[in-house]
Amino acid sequence: MPDRLFPALASGAHKQALHFGERTLTYDELAATAGALARDLPKGRVAVWATPTPHTSVAVVAALLAGVPAVPINPKIGERELAHIVSDSEPALVLAEPGVGLPDGLSTIPRRDIDLDEKAAPQDPLDEPGAEAPALVVYTSGTTGPPKGVVLPRRALAATLDALEDAWQWTPDDVLVHALPLFHVHGLILGILGPLRRGGSVRHLGRFSLDGVARELGDGATMLFGVPTMYHRIAGEVAENEALAKALRGARLLVSGSAALPVHDYQRITAATGQQVVERYGMTETLMNTSVRADGERKPGTVGVPLAGVELRLVGEDGERIDEPGTVGEIQVRGPNLFTEYLNRPDATSAAFDDGWFRTGDMATRDADGYVRIVGRKATDLIKSGGYKIGAGEIENALLEHPNVAEAAVTGEPDDDLGERIVAWIVPDGEPPAAAELADHVARLLTPHKRPRVVRYLDALPRNDMGKVMKRALGG
Ligand code: ATP
Ligand code: MG
Repeated sequence: MPDRLFPALASGAHKQALHFGERTLTYDELAATAGALARDLPKGRVAVWATPTPHTSVAVVAALLAGVPAVPINPKIGERELAHIVSDSEPALVLAEPGVGLPDGLSTIPRRDIDLDEKAAPQDPLDEPGAEAPALVVYTSGTTGPPKGVVLPRRALAATLDALEDAWQWTPDDVLVHALPLFHVHGLILGILGPLRRGGSVRHLGRFSLDGVARELGDGATMLFGVPTMYHRIAGEVAENEALAKALRGARLLVSGSAALPVHDYQRITAATGQQVVERYGMTETLMNTSVRADGERKPGTVGVPLAGVELRLVGEDGERIDEPGTVGEIQVRGPNLFTEYLNRPDATSAAFDDGWFRTGDMATRDADGYVRIVGRKATDLIKSGGYKIGAGEIENALLEHPNVAEAAVTGEPDDDLGERIVAWIVPDGEPPAAAELADHVARLLTPHKRPRVVRYLDALPRNDMGKVMKRALGG
């Protein structure tokens, strides 16, 4: 029989597994509830209406126990995106929290509410399917185009979670503070399935708040997983908020991912708490690729080194291998953490691979110790200006060091002389800094050819539900 994804569920311990607001589920309760649901699921895929509540975790665990692929859906999804996901994934059933209204786009699919108190009569655990069986279909964030359905086998889930156990020294005693949505890899696979695979526990805040983070970390939780927008809020307040600073000081591990963590925010958090946020890098298609190790050197602005089992190479524009420290190339990866295919898109699947290596579309350099520094996405973050190839991320980090810049995004736009010119999109903090002042600031910190030629001011950057900047909406 294949290995179980969640050994702690089979052992049925009376230990807290999930905590959401007022509701706690222990391992034995989760095993009974998810086990009852698992026995009732139809063949074919099931959609999960992924509210930030324990129902989503129960639904996904039940599907995994039954060997039925689960398709988590953002409960704030718009009509068009929902229609695409429904016709693409053809769910046989939708699982939802009782009482929650579902949109018209799901009205043709039978619905089943998830009863948290339903229990199966004691029975032997179900046989779990083989390692290559599809476990989840997760749609990408849609940052660069319409979301793609990524088919993830059980093998990839186990591989990535076990590699993180090793990198983060993750144990059954760890208690995770979690405030991310449950329909992407970060919140669902790392944030819920991770603690369950370890036999640890997770406390979900429902909504991110600094008070919630301070309360839970102050009350025995050991880890925090967040996206950069959350760490940005922490960085902005931690110097004045002693309760928050004290709680963060007591944490074992603070982890950031899903987008680049600005170095300025990392430094402000370190200055106030001594904590050095660990950054990791992954994608829906590959789950986790690299991380700074809990026992390793922290290098701000890097995403650490390849995880156990992951092979990583950098490839230049002509397909050549790049081994020289500091030289930019596309990240390609290979390993047991990779997806099987894009659902219904054989052409996109084959185009994504280069001789067995997955092309991430992310550009990076490596230093002499193998630490990876992401420069940005090939499609939107690499600006070709005046004969130079310039990464947007480095300029964004420099702009964020200006005292009157709250948020910054950099794009390229066509320019007759330069090929592309660098455009800075700024959310000011107080008095908006003049374009010339920002250009001088960047030229002084970096080099003159990296200075923005145009500065545009906004009230907020366009971000998706993971806090990622949608550069498409900025014309990037
Ligand atoms: P789509 O593929 O639909 O355009 P997406 O790529 O944003 O959306 P995800 O799979 O959720 O969808 O995100 C993966 C991407 O997020 C990576 O390719 C990378 O660009 C970015 N990313 C993740 N972690 C980091 C990190 N630590 N630093 C920089 N970028 C990161
Ligand atoms: Mg992507």
